Amino acid sequence: MSDYVTDLMNDVKARNPAEPEFHQAVHEVVESLVLVFARHPEYRSARVLERIIEPERVILFRVPWADDRGEVRVNRGFRIEMNSAIGPYKGGLRFHPSVNLGILKFLAFEQVFKNSLTTLPMGGGKGGSDFDPKGRSDGEVMRFCQSFMTELWRHIGPDTDVPAGDIGVGGREIGYLFGQYKRLANEFTGVLTGKGITWGGSLIRPEATGYGSVYFAQEMLRTRGQSLEGRRCLVSGSGNVSQYTVEKLLDLGAVPITLSDSDGMIHDAAGIDREKLAFVMELKNKRRGRIAEYAERFKSARYLAVEPGRTHAPIWDLEADCAFPSATQNEIGATDAANLVKRGVTLVCEGANMPSTLEAIGVYTQAGLLYGPAKAANAGGVATSGLEMSQNSLRLAWSREEVDQRLHGIMVAIHRTCHETAAEYGVPGRYLDGANIGGFLKVANAMMEQGLV
Ligand code: NDP
Repeated sequence: MSDYVTDLMNDVKARNPAEPEFHQAVHEVVESLVLVFARHPEYRSARVLERIIEPERVILFRVPWADDRGEVRVNRGFRIEMNSAIGPYKGGLRFHPSVNLGILKFLAFEQVFKNSLTTLPMGGGKGGSDFDPKGRSDGEVMRFCQSFMTELWRHIGPDTDVPAGDIGVGGREIGYLFGQYKRLANEFTGVLTGKGITWGGSLIRPEATGYGSVYFAQEMLRTRGQSLEGRRCLVSGSGNVSQYTVEKLLDLGAVPITLSDSDGMIHDAAGIDREKLAFVMELKNKRRGRIAEYAERFKSARYLAVEPGRTHAPIWDLEADCAFPSATQNEIGATDAANLVKRGVTLVCEGANMPSTLEAIGVYTQAGLLYGPAKAANAGGVATSGLEMSQNSLRLAWSREEVDQRLHGIMVAIHRTCHETAAEYGVPGRYLDGANIGGFLKVANAMMEQGLV
């Protein structure tokens, strides 16, 4: 079987050159699926995985726009429509200078499995642009979003493909994108999720990824008779996922002690309380400032700037109990993972997509950590997007409590699927295998039933 993995990976690398993140995401899944193919050779002979790896459609387009000085700018827009076996394509849009085809393909591939795990009928997709909203005025962001949607709108629709936010795409960007879609299509439909609350959005959607990640951690701890009460938690990033991870950790009596952005990190040994979190939300969501300001405002915190060329990230080298990487891909390497173990961390729960390298995951497994992989742990965001789609179709809005309760129920169900599937396939406690296999089976069965399409 290891020949199968080697051959498949060689093929993936040859067909998709210069896409290391995509190779990494596929490799991680293939390793788990070997357990399935040993029992069910029919999936292998029908080449189901090979079909899942190939996007159903890739859309690549030019996004011209003018900056505030009237200078013409040109960015690249993407939408990867990866798999629609169990529902319309669904997945976020990322605006970040690092965006390229390989990164979006890794994200779209992950999304297929994640969406399958949510229990809701959603296929997988992802998109975005190498546009950097940082430092841009609202007018520039609006003009960019309008130009981006002027091409994208013909490819999406409430029953075809429903994008949402991701890094660099929050409420402001979704607003501009939705406005332009509505104007072009001349219809008011649930074509995007993460909408404003007065125009079709769902309560709890902004909170959902962070809250869901903490609910997943809570379930993992429960299997060992433990809770989050009093636990010191490392949280990276300071955007949407990080902020609501901190909020839910506080609700459950944990003590978050770090945050970061691409310039540096803060360590607040006294704990990030609600007042400090409110400061961060205002800083990041309104003033769009840097996390360094936190340490200027709160003397209990120290700031460490990112050092170019460093071999490890200091945020993962602090005494703590739990880690919630919530910034970006590959933020935890092998050295960082070893530092986490050394510093007493017993749980890693991934709010970001693929924040741990394959080597880091090896370290977690070796050390017997509770490891909640992204496609399970951060699925609360897209699950609540699914709930937003349901509310749009029903033309009604559920209360905050109702959505939160459904989100909690979905995270408990995802945890159960991962836990039970891992045990069923002979690798108890290995949530990564449980998530990959659980996510795969539903999509694979739908593809087998729908024939070669
Ligand atoms: P935001 O744009 O709100 O925040 C991203 C945060 O991560 C910022 O603090 C940003 O810092 C930091 N960051 C981004 N890129 C880098 C980098 N290369 N190095 C260091 N820090 C970086 O995004 P979200 O919170 O929405 O997304 C965070 C992660 O969660 C991503 O991996 C995303 O795919 C994932 N995710 C998000 C979901 C959602 O619902 N929003 C759903 C599921 C997963 P800076 O401001 O300096 O760029």
